[in-house]
Amino acid sequence: MPGPGDVLDLVRRGRATTRGGILEVTGLSRMTVAQRVDALLEARLLIEDGTHGPTGGRRPRRLVVNSDHSRLVTATVNTTHTTTALADLSGRILARDSFDVAVADGPERTLHEVARSVRRLLAHPAAGGVPLAGVGVSIPGPVDPETGRPSQPPIMPGWDGYPIPDRLTDEFGVSVVVANDADAAALGEQTVGYPDSPALCLVKVSTGIGTGIVLDGRVYAGVDGGAGDIGHVRVTDDPQARCRCGAQGCLAAVAGGRAVARALSELGIPASSGRDVGARLAAGDADAARLTQEAGRRIGEVMATVVSVLNPGVVLLGGALASTPLLAGVRETLYPRSLPRATRHLTVALATLGDDAASVGMARLLVENEFSPAAVNARLA
Ligand SMILES: [Zn+2]
Repeated sequence: MPGPGDVLDLVRRGRATTRGGILEVTGLSRMTVAQRVDALLEARLLIEDGTHGPTGGRRPRRLVVNSDHSRLVTATVNTTHTTTALADLSGRILARDSFDVAVADGPERTLHEVARSVRRLLAHPAAGGVPLAGVGVSIPGPVDPETGRPSQPPIMPGWDGYPIPDRLTDEFGVSVVVANDADAAALGEQTVGYPDSPALCLVKVSTGIGTGIVLDGRVYAGVDGGAGDIGHVRVTDDPQARCRCGAQGCLAAVAGGRAVARALSELGIPASSGRDVGARLAAGDADAARLTQEAGRRIGEVMATVVSVLNPGVVLLGGALASTPLLAGVRETLYPRSLPRATRHLTVALATLGDDAASVGMARLLVENEFSPAAVNARLA
């Protein structure tokens, strides 16, 4: 029988927003619906919207999820810097913080700084004195879906198997969810811009390259968290193209932010990371634009295979190199190398949320974890 958690889920998804609507969708008795709703109102998980109809007549009171029930904190760990965000339960970002730390310095140093930043956000007025419900961390590498630990991340030395969830749960006493950054960003963009898309991919092109896949509103991470990790697909026999993963000829080694930064440096324009390239692109640098477009062509070649396998409705480009030249490059090779049927309804566009994408996605993952029907039923039992 549907419990209060199932009722909360119906309201969150907009499938029922009044007692009458819940009765209709669930088939529960009027009295049981009243009990479920009362339990959720008492727990402050739902609130009643007291507005009346335009004619002044009484309208059934609308039930809405209380987005101020508790707060969430997310950390987006990038290769060279980390951003953190404070969010409400609707995924709205209320405050942000950021700091520079190299992921290559290892998990202890990075997570120490993450914890400090989280405490700064919890001291922010927008934290509002309500409890913290969870911490979400996205990292630039694959995550074991069972344990939330990094799973042989190619560009994160010292992080393999590191117990990120335990480390932060010990510190903050809440549950911690860890996800791949491209997965989190894909979910964030899907939530805000393409809620009805059954299949969406986001290619994050920063210092490295990764793809997040969202199918039917859920991240598809793969059996070992490696789905969409296209940065290490071999695309060239060029012995110069040495990748930080230890292999040779990887896509990331020829089209990632680091590769473009190196090419820029050779032209006398100092750059070392994806973020540096992004800054040159924003400044309108012609060499940065040309090299980024060329990188886009290489990425489009690999994405043609992804599109042929998944036939998605949306392919978004995000990360530090996301720009008009990157988009143009990807389109140049993706379309001619894919069958028309696979691209007939395909939108290829720039992501729109920037650094917030992964925060919004992590906030949604946290809500789905902490306020799932089963979790709420257990809490209110
Ligand atoms: Zn590689």
